[in-house]
Amino acid sequence: MNDGCFARANWPISLTDLTPALLGASVRAMADPMRETIFALSSGRPPAAIAVVRVSGARAAEALKVLTGKVPEARKAALAQVRGHDGQVIDQALVLWFPGPHSETGEDVAELQLHGGRAVIAAVLTALSRIEGLRPAEAGEFTRRAFENGKLDLTAVEGLADLVMAETEGQRRQAFRQMTGALGNRAESWRTQLIQALALVEARIDFSDEADVPQDLVTPALQIARTLEGEIASALADGGRGERLREGLVVAIAGPPNAGKSTLLNRIAKREAAIVSPYAGTTRDVIEVHLDLGGLPVTLLDTAGIRETDDPVEREGVMRARARAASADLVLWVVDASDPVRPGKAEMASPSPPTWLVRNKIDVIQMVRERNESTEHKNGRNESSLRTNKPFKSIVNRGLTGKTELEFNLNESVFNVSAVTGEGFDGLLVQLAQHAESFLAGAESALVTRERHRRALEDTLAALRRALARDLAGREDLLAEELRIAGRALGRLTGRVDVEDVLDVIFRDFCIGK
Ligand code: GDP
Repeated sequence: MNDGCFARANWPISLTDLTPALLGASVRAMADPMRETIFALSSGRPPAAIAVVRVSGARAAEALKVLTGKVPEARKAALAQVRGHDGQVIDQALVLWFPGPHSETGEDVAELQLHGGRAVIAAVLTALSRIEGLRPAEAGEFTRRAFENGKLDLTAVEGLADLVMAETEGQRRQAFRQMTGALGNRAESWRTQLIQALALVEARIDFSDEADVPQDLVTPALQIARTLEGEIASALADGGRGERLREGLVVAIAGPPNAGKSTLLNRIAKREAAIVSPYAGTTRDVIEVHLDLGGLPVTLLDTAGIRETDDPVEREGVMRARARAASADLVLWVVDASDPVRPGKAEMASPSPPTWLVRNKIDVIQMVRERNESTEHKNGRNESSLRTNKPFKSIVNRGLTGKTELEFNLNESVFNVSAVTGEGFDGLLVQLAQHAESFLAGAESALVTRERHRRALEDTLAALRRALARDLAGREDLLAEELRIAGRALGRLTGRVDVEDVLDVIFRDFCIGK
């Protein structure tokens, strides 16, 4: 601590005074009046009933005056005629005015709710671009300004991006929690406690000779560090569930060519997502389908038929398929139940994820069986065991799929389905939904939803552990340094310090107008 005087005067130390001094000034700046004013279509693809155009920046009021002749009362919807530069009326719109700093971006914001036709939008955007000091916004620029003006921290920005992209209820709830500070508030509270611990150690260093400063400042500092270490470690010990919920349970559909993988995927996805072809080896790449199973996200991957091949294009497909299947959370290993000679599970890359055997085309077996039965009937033979004594599954096992099944252990699930008739699909989907549920259990409450969070928290934890290591006893300077490193890692998480390098990565994923 450089300026120790206020600490002596104001013991105990005031945290608000210490924050910038100890952990680097915040990267957030107040709204800059010199900055260009930006505008964009913030609603979805036209044509639509309504289109929302937003303007943010110091010239937003001017823009409203030029387009509508007035600036309405703050935060109250007003009806206005929107005119182009030639004075001609473009549209009649609802206009909203949010003066900064109490706006989404922290700057002055104007919002026009227009009729959502392409020509209306084009005319209004052209009119805006003719106003001096205004320019079209870049992707994510509104949110970036909100971040820079201290309206959102980085974890909230990420939550907002996830909320826009959420496809299932589980993802929506997770994103909403993140946007409203589930991790951000927690990280800030950890950071505040770290600053407190650091202040104690710094005080010990600076005022070791002073009579009015308590001698043992390090013990309470270490106590804080120990508590934080426990809390952060438990936030990290979530089995990666938070990240998984964002991405969904990844299920790879794999197996030999022509087993019916694409047909199966289409039936599950209820649409024509993959090419279905009667010729082997046509699905040459990995096709992804996102599903909502009971509110949980499931990503299905249709992998190319896994087999040895000389065709270089197909070989590439096979390679990718193997890699994707090996990193999936679950593999549906599809085989043609009517094909007696087929390659088995041994072809999977190892170690392989949990694998369910899906025996497809049971309709063909049923047909064969019916044909055999009628022949047997004609021949006067009575093989009643085929129909009554043995379950259908064991008949299939014995007759047609013995070889492959031996390669699966008994704990693994086996499904008999027909991708063409739909038989057996209900059971498979129920099991998939249950698997997703147990796989993602507790995911919504997980704090860590991105690799970036995990890395920042791991850095914090590592520094805390070094701070708590026995060999630092008596070395307050080193202890202080580790606490500072831990604090900076948490600052990076919320975007308070050292984040310029990650900003572009985060905002790149946003759409224009957000
Ligand atoms: P993939 O190479 O494993 O993706 O196999 P496809 O999905 O392209 O299917 C290969 C062929 O098997 C196509 O002619 C499908 O119509 C056919 N097929 C797929 N599933 C079934 C099924 O359950 N029953 C029958 N009879 N044919 C099927």
